This record gives sequence, structure tokens and C-alpha cells, in this order.
Amino acid sequence: MFISFMNNALKNAELSLLNNEVPVGAVLVKNNNIIAEARNCMSLLKNPIKHAEILLVENEIIKIKSKYLNKYDIYVTLQPCDMCLYALRLIRIRRIYFGAYTNSSLQSNITKLNLIKNDNKNKKYIKNDNIDTKNLSKNSNKIEIYGGIMEDKCSNILKKFFKQKRNINIKY
Ligand SMILES: [Zn+2]
Repeated sequence: MFISFMNNALKNAELSLLNNEVPVGAVLVKNNNIIAEARNCMSLLKNPIKHAEILLVENEIIKIKSKYLNKYDIYVTLQPCDMCLYALRLIRIRRIYFGAYTNSSLQSNITKLNLIKNDNKNKKYIKNDNIDTKNLSKNSNKIEIYGGIMEDKCSNILKKFFKQKRNINIKY
């Protein structure tokens, strides 16, 4: 099931790529149904905090008039940044599934996660049993986080974007 959800997140990432945004897409899932989809819109909205995850949960919170999304899971093509991870904690999202890993040094919370193997499908996942919460709000809950879902496809689209950017820069 998560492959199909991540495929939908990827379609949104592809839309970002067409619009010259850092290609990250996300979907919000509840009861095994996709409730909403979003993509990065930082350039479009001229707002550097309009990451796919933020847009996704902001819209849903307004729609359902509840401040918590504790029955929802999010599928996102890139490991959430610290800002998004914090926001997802505050709104009490249940699970995060992400595709590509980021190398950002800001990812202090994620680097402490445990690596577990799923031998059935020969894919790797990460579970956050030991997530460091000392810097986060005391009211924030623990989120289950799984990484590396369709990792190659999710990271290839990012590589494609940054390669395009480099090529453009070389021309100038
Ligand atoms: Zn983010």
C-alpha cells in the first residue's frame, strides 16, 4: 500500500520539478485513503516555509477544524526537515513515511533513529524508538518514522533538479 501512496507523492514531486521548485511531494493518508496531496511551493508562493508537508497539514487542519491529525499518516518523498518534523509533531501526525534521505546537518532528530530491516521485501526502514525529544515540546507525541521507501526514485528526481540548476548556473 505504501508504494502506491509514495507513487502519488512522487507525482506531486514531478509537478514541482515542472514548476522549477525543489521537487518534493507529499500525501496525507487516513484509513488507507489519500485525503490530500501537496508539493513544495516555495517559489510559487514566494515563501520559503511553504514546504509540501506544511501545506498539506495546514489545509487539512482548516478543513476538519481540529488542531490535531493523530489519525493521519504522511508520505513524503524527502526526509522532512527540522521545521516540518517539528510541525508534524505539534499537530500529532501518527506516522511519517519518507523516500529519500537528506544529508543535512540539521537533521539531528533523525540521525538518532534506529535502522531496522524488513527482510520480506528487502527494503530498509527506520523506526524512531529512541527519537530525541528533549528539544521538542513536552506536549508533542512520538511519531513513527519510516524512511527509504522508493528511495531511488525519490532521490533521482532531486538529483535531476539540482543537475538542471547546475547546468543553468554554468551558462551564466
Ligand atoms: Zn520541510
